[in-house]
Formats: sequence, C-alpha cells, structure tokens
Amino acid sequence: MAKRSIRDLLRAPAGFTTLDELDPAATPGAREKARAIADLPELLRELSSQQEQLWAEHTRSLLLVLQGMDTSGKDGTIRHVIGGLNPAGTKIVAFKQPTAVELRHDFLWRIRRGLPEPGQTGIFNRSHYEDVLVVRVHRLVPRPVWAARFARINAFEQELGAGGITVVKVLLHISKREQRERLLARLDDPTKRWKFRPGDLEERKRWPAYLRAYDDVVRRCSTPAAPWYVVPADRKWYRNWAVSQLLLETLREMDPHYPQPSFDPAIYRAKLAAERD
Ligand code: ADP
Repeated sequence: MAKRSIRDLLRAPAGFTTLDELDPAATPGAREKARAIADLPELLRELSSQQEQLWAEHTRSLLLVLQGMDTSGKDGTIRHVIGGLNPAGTKIVAFKQPTAVELRHDFLWRIRRGLPEPGQTGIFNRSHYEDVLVVRVHRLVPRPVWAARFARINAFEQELGAGGITVVKVLLHISKREQRERLLARLDDPTKRWKFRPGDLEERKRWPAYLRAYDDVVRRCSTPAAPWYVVPADRKWYRNWAVSQLLLETLREMDPHYPQPSFDPAIYRAKLAAERD
C-alpha cells in the first residue's frame, strides 16, 4: 500500500468533533525517535532548497500559521524548523495583545499587514485565530461578534489562496499534563525562567474553555483552501519532524523553480572573462 502523506495523516478529518479524540503523544507517519531525529537534517536541507527557489521566483508565498496552548512549542518550532531557512526570504510575525491602534481597526487589519511578500515564507506565531480563541475565552467581545468571525476567516483565507499565498495551518496539540511538565521546567531551569509568566497558571485554569474554543476553530475553519493540521506535540522530536514534513510536502507540490534569466549569461560571461586587471 502506498505510504500516506503527512498532510493526509494530520489533516483534521471530515466530521472532526473534538481534540479530545486525538492523542497529543501520537507519532503518525514517523519511524522511531532516533530515526526521525537522524532524518531531520536532510529534511531541513531540502526544505531550505525549496524555500530558496520560492524566494528566487518572487511570485508566490507560503504562510505557516502556528497556533497552540501556552508551552505547546510555537517558538521551538520556529527555532528548529524555520531556523535553517534563508532569513531574507522569511517573515516571522508574532501576534500579541492588540495595541490601541490595532483595536481601532477590524481584527484582520493587522493580519493583512503581516502577510508575506511575494516569494517569502511567512510564519504567524499566533494569528487571526486569537480573535476567536483568547477573545472568546476571556469574553473580550460579545458572542455574536466573535461568532461571525469564523465565516470572515474562511473567506479571508480563500482570498489568500487565490492571491498566491498557500496557507499551512498547524495546531500544536499538547496534553495538559505535558504543559505542567514544561511549566515546571521553566521554573526549575534558570535559563528558561524568563519564559514563565505567573499569568500562565491563570490561563491553565481555563484549559477546558480553550479546548472547546479550539474544537470550534478546527470544526468551523478547516476548509479545502486552508485545512487545519493537528500536530501531536507532546514529543518535541515528532513536532519538529512533522512540521518540517508538512512544509516540505506543501513546497514540493508548489514546485518552485529558479527563474530563467531574461538575458544571455554567455554574453556577460565573455565580457567579464575578457577583462584585464
Ligand atoms: P507567547 O505566549 O505567544 O510566547 P506572549 O507571552 O507575549 O507570547 O503572549 C501573547 C499574548 O497575546 C497571548 O496571551 C495571546 O493570547 C495574546 N493575544 C494575541 N492575540 C490577541 C488578541 N487578538 N486579543 C487578545 N489577546 C491576544
């Protein structure tokens, strides 16, 4: 039987209902840990080569949207997977609490400003989905306001696809137990303590509310134009391997190429070769 692609294995299934049914410690499509770790450098090399060609083409873009609970590994994914790409062709945007100016605009305003330019690989560390996640859980706007956003988001992402931006949405799915371990590690390790905020524990109490909000995000906004990929993220090695694979499969399908020069290189080659010092 043909091996199923990682995209097929991780795409939120039709009829998806809840993240409770997906195991955060699973490792779909991967061989054992040592093998996946050994395979990663080669994967990243090909990823970097594909990204370089996309950048050279300067016409289309790739956009990785990273969402997940606190400690789910958004920063780690950027460091380990995106870190090997050509920074010139990469645009990383972290969406934090909106500023006063941003709040005066529609929720998609700051998102549009953060979109990758043609050729770039964009990474959203959090995204427009916060406007139906934290905003919902903390009741920052009335229900009808956030509820209307699912359709807006779907239309927006469809528009991105039509405009040449391929969107890869990754939900880093961790367990509540694993979050506890990671928060403890942050407190225990002086080099990680800076990542801990006392507010993290308050957010942790809202875990069930966030889970239900994430369920709705996947249920309502996994579309053919922009499906959600749910990446089990309790194991960091699997997370890095799987996100690399997802990006690589997407880039292979986009199939970027170095552009043909609009001049004859031989003419300029001859000129340079004929130069005398
Ligand atoms: P991170 O946790 O991503 O490493 P921060 O600690 O600065 O970075 O957290 C960013 C915070 O901004 C998160 O708590 C997130 O929920 C919040 N945030 C992002 N987008 C919005 C939004 N649209 N409305 C309210 N809060 C938001």
